[in-house]
Amino acid sequence: MIKDNFPFEFNHAACISCLAACCKGSSGNIWVNSADIRNICHILEINQIDGINKFFEKRGNRYSIRECVDDKDYRCIFLNSANRCSIYSVRPLQCRTFPFWEHFKRHTEQLINECPGVQKLIDF
Ligand code: SF4
Repeated sequence: MIKDNFPFEFNHAACISCLAACCKGSSGNIWVNSADIRNICHILEINQIDGINKFFEKRGNRYSIRECVDDKDYRCIFLNSANRCSIYSVRPLQCRTFPFWEHFKRHTEQLINECPGVQKLIDF
């Protein structure tokens, strides 16, 4: 898959053998909005007050998905033991648009090191 103005292509097939490198590693923000929180709590059959306390944390004036620490690696709390997203159908926009983030237009080498599905476009 390619997108206008991005200097790389992304092959979804790489996700089959990848152990979810994009959902773990160094700590980061996984932003959610109120609709995301509502949808995630709905599929997990948990009320929103308990869900917010359990799965999200406030960072500044926004909510981010909580992370767990696993052998010095941070991993999204929704990444299951098989390294699959347990809320895939309602994952937030940030997850759905990976790796086509503005940040990676300028940091493509960082992305290539993290994601085996990304290749630089030679004629970009
Ligand atoms: S919500 Fe799902 S896709 Fe997004 S970081 Fe967490 S495990 Fe990965």
